[in-house]
Amino acid sequence: MLAWHQKKEDVVGLKAPKREKRVRKETRSQPPVEAPYVAPKPKLTRSAPDKIVEIFDGMTLRDLSKRSGATINALQSILADLGERVESEFDSITIDLAELVGMELGVNIRRMHTGEGTVEPRPAVVTVMGHVDHGKTSLLDSLRQTSVAAKEAGGITQHIGAFVVEMQSGASLTFLDTPGHAAFSAMRARGAAVTDIVVLVVAADDGVMPQTLEAMSHAKVANVPIVVAINKCDKSGADPERVRIQLGSEGLLLEDMGGDVQVVEISALSKLGLDKLEEALLLQAEIMDLKARTDGPAQAFVVEARVDRGRGPLATTIVKSGTLVSGQYIVVGSEWGRIRSLRDTAGKVTESAKPAMPVEIEGLRGLPMAGDDVVVVDSEERARMLSQGRKKKQEKDRLRKIDENMTEEAEIGEETPERVEMPIIVKADVQGSVQAVTDALRSLNSPQVFVNVVHVGVGPISEHDIDLAQACRACIVGFNIRDPPSAITLGATQANIKILLHKVIYHLLEEMGRLIVEKAPGTAETQISGEAEVLNIFELKGRSKSKGPDIKIAGCRITDGRFSRTGTMRLLRSGDVVFEGPCSSLKREKQDADTLDKGTDCGLVIEDCDEYQVGDTIQCLEQVIRKPKFISTQSGAVRIEC
Ligand code: GDP
Repeated sequence: MLAWHQKKEDVVGLKAPKREKRVRKETRSQPPVEAPYVAPKPKLTRSAPDKIVEIFDGMTLRDLSKRSGATINALQSILADLGERVESEFDSITIDLAELVGMELGVNIRRMHTGEGTVEPRPAVVTVMGHVDHGKTSLLDSLRQTSVAAKEAGGITQHIGAFVVEMQSGASLTFLDTPGHAAFSAMRARGAAVTDIVVLVVAADDGVMPQTLEAMSHAKVANVPIVVAINKCDKSGADPERVRIQLGSEGLLLEDMGGDVQVVEISALSKLGLDKLEEALLLQAEIMDLKARTDGPAQAFVVEARVDRGRGPLATTIVKSGTLVSGQYIVVGSEWGRIRSLRDTAGKVTESAKPAMPVEIEGLRGLPMAGDDVVVVDSEERARMLSQGRKKKQEKDRLRKIDENMTEEAEIGEETPERVEMPIIVKADVQGSVQAVTDALRSLNSPQVFVNVVHVGVGPISEHDIDLAQACRACIVGFNIRDPPSAITLGATQANIKILLHKVIYHLLEEMGRLIVEKAPGTAETQISGEAEVLNIFELKGRSKSKGPDIKIAGCRITDGRFSRTGTMRLLRSGDVVFEGPCSSLKREKQDADTLDKGTDCGLVIEDCDEYQVGDTIQCLEQVIRKPKFISTQSGAVRIEC
């Protein structure tokens, strides 16, 4: 109790005006189970508080105490700091209040949303994946042209992260606009499992490739069903049958082989088979019997976020359950705001958004990230408190992580080679790409080079980026953005700043991998560079006592590799090391030599050694610097191996 009182001042920003409120008495003993949302928790590391406390609306204080391990008194004390008086352990609290308390306790929370209310069928949310150049973007472009937005806007649509295609039957499909498994997995890693079905695009003229397999694994891990779209069937070299066999042998149970994975032949370019693909997706959605609660407060996820000069931060979100209504106060990740307007994908203002319907939210105070959750709260005050609390927790987690990384490095100790830093600034077209690129770059971290993403942002490379890059000697990565104006490029060249512009993550990683290998200090290794056999022993006599004893010279033939004057010599007899020391003389026909190759006869003196015997072996040892290797695996995954 006392401890909690002492912590009072920690509740900066969470502290509400002194006002004591009674809370509802209604209780709910069992947590609801619909679509659990994992709050953006830090990756749990060794000493991180690994506790995840599930919270839900209407939970009693007793529930929270049992789940969090804190005493009722401690909880009451925190609640009092928050301006709430909860007298009995059987009194219930709201989910937001439970989250605020959780933040104060320093635990990670998982919000469990209610499944109660009217449940209705909802459209499927689809993500397009596949190997680079197999036509993902082209397919999305073609589908987008058939979207509701395109029909209403005469074919012109903006990339806002998602679009809706409506069939004649009235059924619809929601497509996420950022193709590829990097974005898909980045979203899921943040708890935003919005995708219901994956369209796996495989080019009929190229077949199954590394990223096809990788996309398959991502879908499998996420337990998301696949519909295969064999693309480029218009091309003369197209061989859809071969693709089917390849996919089958990779373990994908295709429909025509007795499995349940549908396969559609299409041409994204000539727009052939798109209707069949849409039908296949609808059928898959029907099989899945997708339903969601439609009434009550919405739970949603951000799929894209950007800043508009006139309208401020905009976030495209997809509602998972409930209904999002214009005017509501919301907390999005660690940002908050009041929904000033909701627009559908055609840019039309709408009053509300139901499950699987993408809408653009205007009215946020800051820019959220793709994968952030959207929760509706009662008041501005509560929105502010949650946002501030989440920001504080994020900062705490960040600092703890830095702390742990440092401890980890110290623990690894002296054997660890020197580690250099590779500061990087990431700029990309949309928030989703920023996230995906940043995560992908971090996967190139290695014991020798620390990939430090110092700044990220949406939009073109600016002068500010150049200034920052100069200040911290960073290189700038531009993903899917237009080429910077010549003034910026010139500035970068003059300041010796590298700019890497790419449209394919894999290519970016390849180039970055090469830079990392170049920059890595490498590890010093002793290597046997040559081997020689002792054929004769010569003695150099006639020296005075003051100059030391007579010197023995080993007359050798180099049988393998190369001998170098700067190397260390190792004398071996029957495989055992007899002596090891620096080389004090290496001669060929009485001439000093720096290096000698295989097949050469030479005279060799090891400092302070007079133990040579005919038949001994001498090895020449040299120090070499071994650089790490950039490994690109069959599956398209990359890593740096030291
Ligand atoms: P992504 O990397 O998977 O997004 O692939 P893109 O959509 O950028 O397509 C790569 C290339 O394939 C582009 O030059 C497209 O024009 C071409 N392409 C895509 N779909 C088709 C198709 O159905 N037929 C033909 N002939 N070319 C296609």
